[in-house]
Amino acid sequence: MAYQQPALPYADNSLEPYISANTIGFHYGKHHATYIKNYNGLVEGTPFDAKPIEEVILATAADAAKVGVFNNAAQALNHSFYWNCLTPNGGGTPTGELAAKIDADFGSFDKFKDELKNAAATQFGSGWAWLVLDNGTLKVVKTGNAQTPLTSGQTPLLCIDVWEHAYYLDYQNRRPDHVAAVIDHLLNWKFATDNYLAAK
Ligand code: MN
Repeated sequence: MAYQQPALPYADNSLEPYISANTIGFHYGKHHATYIKNYNGLVEGTPFDAKPIEEVILATAADAAKVGVFNNAAQALNHSFYWNCLTPNGGGTPTGELAAKIDADFGSFDKFKDELKNAAATQFGSGWAWLVLDNGTLKVVKTGNAQTPLTSGQTPLLCIDVWEHAYYLDYQNRRPDHVAAVIDHLLNWKFATDNYLAAK
């Protein structure tokens, strides 16, 4: 029961000029595909093979002997989630229930945006910045390398990949410029709202 890479939900050039087709080509076509290939190779013929990837992530997160399975499983799922967090003509502000909840929990959308930018900019080295629902409260969190908020019992609503492979071809060392472009032009608030309504 190999884990399948989901189809990219848009054309590889449709996030331009903020993320190039070249970056998507390597990121989706090489990095993400390789995590999935490695994951499937590691679990083939083991009891993990029959389990949903979320269960494998939770089962291996605290097991140092299974760090390879965890890293590849978490990166496979993180990226499958990440592609849906971006959309052509995205960005702007959420509406409806999620917008009201952001105002309630962060004070304002601008304050939320500052927190997300700060988390993405200050994650030291590779990792992710996330909007999560944690016991009924929205929070911004950052995780290192392959780590996911799922192992802290939090529900991811949106994420930004801050590994260098996500932006280096387009922005080189300017991670904050990449993050600002993603927030202002690409974030998929419909996807985040659907995740919020399903989890609340
Ligand atoms: Mn990535």
